[in-house]
Amino acid sequence: MKHDDNCIFCKIVTGDIPASIVYEDDDVIAFTDIGQVTKGHTLLIPKDHQPDIYDLQPETAAKLFGMAPKIANAIKSALSPAGMNLVNNNGKAASQSVFHFHLHFIPRYGSSDGFQPTWEDNSSSYSAEDLKNMAESISKRI
Ligand code: AMP
Ligand code: ZN
Repeated sequence: MKHDDNCIFCKIVTGDIPASIVYEDDDVIAFTDIGQVTKGHTLLIPKDHQPDIYDLQPETAAKLFGMAPKIANAIKSALSPAGMNLVNNNGKAASQSVFHFHLHFIPRYGSSDGFQPTWEDNSSSYSAEDLKNMAESISKRI
């Protein structure tokens, strides 16, 4: 199990700093986010220190994402939100602030509940040819 002494989430894994634990097994741990964007905002992380989606091991991903529906359903059952956004930030440019992979569960209660998942429709900037070229470029690297 990789551990980074300077990582706040590794310290939660080892119990060196407190967290309100929602779920824990040998591979993953879920706890309430100290920031609470909306009521019930929860984080699911691997116990192993893997910084972001680029480093996330497929076996770890399978275990972590395998738990995601159970965590979501537990939050739904406990708090009856109207919806739920799952968010994962990778890199400073994408607002990642803790560099230990984590999946945010953000229960939604309406359009002014504190979370704003807005983005522009830029489809007019890309032709069908552009989409095909992008797909080919990505595809050949998998
Ligand atoms: P991100 O910006 O995607 O890296 O999200 C990091 C999240 O970790 C933020 O929502 C913080 O509120 C949360 N966070 C930071 N420290 C703690 C902590 N000690 N316990 C619980 N959540 C934390
Ligand atoms: Zn860590």
